[in-house]
Amino acid sequence: MGSVSLPVLQNTSCNTEPVTTETTAPDAALAEGRLWRPRRVYITPDAYALPHGRAMLERAEGFGAEVIRLKQNRLTGLSGQPGEKDERKAYALAKTSLAIVVSPPSARRLQPIPPSADWQFHLAQGCPAHCQYCYLAGSLSGPPITRAYANLHEILENLREYVGTGKVTSASAERAHEGTTFEASCYTDPLGIEHLTGGLEESVRFFGAWDAPVQLRFTTKFAAVGPLLGLQHHGRTRVRFSLNAASVARDFEGGTATMAQRIRALRRMAMAGYPVGLTVAPIMPVEGWQAEYTALFTEIATALDGVAGLDLTAELITHRFTAGSREVLLGWYPKTTLDLAKENRSEKRNKFGGFKYVYPKDRMAQMREWFYAEIARVLPGARVLYWT
Ligand code: SF4
Repeated sequence: MGSVSLPVLQNTSCNTEPVTTETTAPDAALAEGRLWRPRRVYITPDAYALPHGRAMLERAEGFGAEVIRLKQNRLTGLSGQPGEKDERKAYALAKTSLAIVVSPPSARRLQPIPPSADWQFHLAQGCPAHCQYCYLAGSLSGPPITRAYANLHEILENLREYVGTGKVTSASAERAHEGTTFEASCYTDPLGIEHLTGGLEESVRFFGAWDAPVQLRFTTKFAAVGPLLGLQHHGRTRVRFSLNAASVARDFEGGTATMAQRIRALRRMAMAGYPVGLTVAPIMPVEGWQAEYTALFTEIATALDGVAGLDLTAELITHRFTAGSREVLLGWYPKTTLDLAKENRSEKRNKFGGFKYVYPKDRMAQMREWFYAEIARVLPGARVLYWT
C-alpha cells in the first residue's frame, strides 16, 4: 500500500491465498498472485434462485466465506454512519464482502464507452483491490462492496441485439475490423473475482461460440489467467493488462497482482492465442517517469519476445479525477500521497457540463509525444488505440 497505513487494508490483503489453478507447474501458480478470499458472502433470494448464483455461492464458501442468505433483494446495513470511524468500518466491511445479486434491468440497457468500445456491459460491480486512484470511486455510490451478478445467462444473451449497432470503435476506420466491441471491465476487475464467479470463463466461451464480428474486451490488474488459457476463444476476446511505472504501482496499488505477475500473465494469454493489450494507466509524470516507463516497456518487450502471431494493442490513459471522485478517494485513503491538487490541473469539460481535472495542456502534449515515440521504439509491433 505504499506510504498509506490503514489497518483495514492490511487485514484484507492478508485475506488472500496463492492461486492453485494449475497443478502441473507450482511455480506458475505462485506467479499468478494471490486470490481474494471474501470473509462473508451475501446472496439475495432472486440470486439464489439462479444456478449461477448458487454456483458462485458454493465457490465463495469453498474459499471459507461465511454465508449470509438475505430475506430480501436489497443489500442493507453496509453503510457506515457519517463520521470517520464508521465510514472506515463500512469501507472495511465492503472490501471483505461479496454480494451475489441480480443486476437491475437498467444495467442491461447498454451504454457506449468511448474510446474503448462500442458498448459496456457488466458481470459485476465493485472490486476487492485498494488502488488509491481507483476510477470506480466517482462512478459507484455507497460502500465499495463487490456485487457479482447471478443472471449471467441473461446478461450475455442480451448482448446479441447490439451486434452491428456500435458507434464508437465500429465507426472508426482503424478499428472497425474488431467488430462490435463489448467492454466488461468498466465497473469491476473481472479477473480479480473470477475464481469466485467463473463469469469471465463463461463470457469467453460465449464470445468464442458467437460466430459473428464481435469482440469481448476486459482489462485487469490481476494475473490468475490459468482457467482461461485453454478456452475456445476464437480470437474474439482481447484481454488487456493494466500496467504502470514501478513506483506508481508500488505507491498507489494494493491487493492487486504485482507488475511482474501481470506481465507474465500477458505472455501466457498471448501464447494461448488471445489478442492482448496494454492498458497503461493511470499515466503519471512521477519523478524520473521516462526512465520508469521505458523500463516497463522493455520488460514487456522481453516477455513477449518470440510469441507467434502476436496481436498487441496499447491504450494510454493519463491520471485524472473529478471533484466527486477526489472526495471519495480522500475519504477512503486519507493519508495518500497521490497528487490530487486541483491547482496542478486543467479542467476538461464533458458534454454533460461536468468536468475532470487533467494534466495541463503542455504537459499532456509532452507526455503524449514521448509515449507514442517510445512505444514505437521499444514495442514496434504494438498498435496504439488512443491517448486520453
Ligand atoms: Fe479500482 Fe481497478 Fe484498482 Fe480494482 S484494480 S481498486 S477497479 S483501479
